[in-house]
Amino acid sequence: MSKLVPVDGILDISPYVPGREKVDGVAKLVKLSANETPLGPSPKAIEAYKSVADQLHRYPEGSALELRQAIGKHYGLNPDNIVCGAGSDELLHLLAQCYVNPGDEVIYTEHAFLVYPIVTKAAGGVCVTVAEDNLTANVDAILAAQTARTKVVFVANPNNPTGTYLAMSEMRRLRAGLRDDVLLVVDAAYAEYVRKNDYEAGIELVATHDNVVMTRTFSKVYGLPALRLGWAYCPAGVADVLNRVRGPFNVNVPAMRAGIAAIQDQSFLDKAIAHNDEWLGWLIEEINKLGLEALPSVANFLLIRFPEEAGKTAADADEFLASRGLILRAVKAYGLPRCLRMSVGLEEDNKAVVATLRAFVEGWK
Ligand SMILES: *Cc1c(COP(=O)(O)O)cnc(C)c1O
Repeated sequence: MSKLVPVDGILDISPYVPGREKVDGVAKLVKLSANETPLGPSPKAIEAYKSVADQLHRYPEGSALELRQAIGKHYGLNPDNIVCGAGSDELLHLLAQCYVNPGDEVIYTEHAFLVYPIVTKAAGGVCVTVAEDNLTANVDAILAAQTARTKVVFVANPNNPTGTYLAMSEMRRLRAGLRDDVLLVVDAAYAEYVRKNDYEAGIELVATHDNVVMTRTFSKVYGLPALRLGWAYCPAGVADVLNRVRGPFNVNVPAMRAGIAAIQDQSFLDKAIAHNDEWLGWLIEEINKLGLEALPSVANFLLIRFPEEAGKTAADADEFLASRGLILRAVKAYGLPRCLRMSVGLEEDNKAVVATLRAFVEGWK
């Protein structure tokens, strides 16, 4: 037996398990399990990615300055307050590493993104999970869980996998109720998709507080998850801390180039959002017509809730769909054993899921 022992907390981590990638005996799969955009990235981003193929022997510019400037211009933010990372996952890890001492408590809600417990435990922190209300984060419950050891609160807004969100007034109330030495991390990975007047991604909250960070990603609506690119909008003090700890070249050149091109292609972004709006609404309506429950969502995915009787469960539906090449995401690990999560796909894929669910339901009779 090896005498090597990792630091406390590491062996309590359950490794993140991505959705399934293949089904035995099924050649052609439609993957609707990872909240990827069905439209892919902007052609201009692909072009920019290819344009650096002959420059791979060069290190990146270490602070991702041009990318931060492009993001800053797009959102009207000071690039000094932006820190880029290899996916927003890296930024979530860095935030926990930099602000959570061993034994400190980190709060998130019942059906929150599974990366939060991982980054908390990796930092030696103690996970505090708070009940949700109707699959939505409950500000009062979060505030009630605050103790003298609380150090960080993670809120995905909108949340994955529930698809629910907190209004700006609720986020303000949350910040106002937390102690000033508690960091509020607003994970806004799906912000671009939200069409609600009372929603704010977090820019305003960061701009008006020195203890709020908003994380964003190029993995979802921008369609660049393969390149691992995310960013955080931070108060100056937090940006300074993250810049001390992050890898000196943590964002690679192709990711930077593609990210800049993607954020400048507004018409492609508009198209992706319009596609999502149209098909998210269609899916919810059609799935509900089948007698299944499609839950409301403001993001690019939705939860479908199944009955508990044998033969009709989410696990049965998952097998039925997968054997026909349709890959949805089981969300049992998120405390939602009755649900499958489906990403909005292309027209033909959405129609295939509805037709297959219809066959599944007809098989019950
Ligand atoms: C997909 C997702 C992210 C993005 O992760 P990346 O590391 O940027 O790919 C972040 N938060 C939530 C809640 C997500 O669902």
